[in-house]
Amino acid sequence: MILVTKPYLPDKSKYIRYIDQIFERNWLTNNGPLVNELELKLKEYLGLKHLLYTSNGTIAIQMAIKALDLKGTIITTPFSYVATTSSIVWEGLKPIFVDIDESTCNIDPSKIEASIQDDTCAILATHCFGNPCDIDAIQKIASKHDLKVIYDAAHCFGTKYKGRSVFEFGDISTTSFHATKLFHTVEGGAVITKAPDLLKRMAYLRNFGHDGPEKFNGVGVNGKNSEFHAAMGLANLDDIEEILLRRRQQCDYYDSKLGKLKIAKPIIGDSAEFNFAYYPIIFESEEICIKMKDGLEDRRVFPRRYFYPSLSSLDYVEHQTTPISDSIASRILCLPLYHTLSKEEQDMIIRILLRTQNY
Ligand SMILES: *Cc1c(COP(=O)(O)O)cnc(C)c1O
Repeated sequence: MILVTKPYLPDKSKYIRYIDQIFERNWLTNNGPLVNELELKLKEYLGLKHLLYTSNGTIAIQMAIKALDLKGTIITTPFSYVATTSSIVWEGLKPIFVDIDESTCNIDPSKIEASIQDDTCAILATHCFGNPCDIDAIQKIASKHDLKVIYDAAHCFGTKYKGRSVFEFGDISTTSFHATKLFHTVEGGAVITKAPDLLKRMAYLRNFGHDGPEKFNGVGVNGKNSEFHAAMGLANLDDIEEILLRRRQQCDYYDSKLGKLKIAKPIIGDSAEFNFAYYPIIFESEEICIKMKDGLEDRRVFPRRYFYPSLSSLDYVEHQTTPISDSIASRILCLPLYHTLSKEEQDMIIRILLRTQNY
């Protein structure tokens, strides 16, 4: 059986060495030495000034919304994982969906201004599949209308924009280190900002608002992560260059063999250095997409309909029309892509797709 993804596992003895340290110290969580080490190494690797490691990528989005004290409506993308929208609703705000650009699968900046309302406070956009949004255009609109910008950069570990980590952009960027992501700590995530005041606020938010044992600085939440999770992160981070390289090779291989398949792929912008986090392909119709999915599943290959359905169709948001997102969502599949996926397995997937097309 071939699934769409498989978590990366580091060298077990290396991981166990970190775990031995934890047992010796008996310090399991609450900003321990491995969490600190991971934060330092991530900042160093990514070239970031500030980063806070969190328990997951969803709480990271919620902390970003809280830290910016957002109220009212938020402009967002309908084409993302459900956490992008659910976090907005969970924090008591209302999402306004702006349709995506068909060629990138990211929010279409040219459609943002028409959707801004009196109570719109921010733009929350996803760099979908690790492909950076049109950051300059979004920032221009945000500055003009005095809106905050949050990027859900859950897919973007290793992605660069204009030579810098894409995590640097926006007032706050959030990311996920969930087991299915390219770099992971089993569960985990981070908030990234360049602003020291926001960093400070999020540091309090992450730890119940604790300002010492007996004093509190505002309302907080439990957004911390543990030493055990940091241990997995430290072990995986050592292998990150190899992980990125392998994905690039696997994607190149799909590209080289799928030329005859009638598909479109999201276009990566010129300013971006892509991380090859996913291999999405967009078919001409939903019917063909389902036929391909069934064809693969018959041979026990399980791609995923990422992202389906379009988030504008969730039953807890006000109905809004986003025809491009709806259309792409109905026709897109992400093909299996993970470190141990072999060339033979890729060949099999490619063969099934090409054969199914010809039926
Ligand atoms: C994975 C993901 C999240 C959620 O991250 P978790 O760490 O699983 O909470 C949010 N947004 C996007 C786009 C994601 O892919």
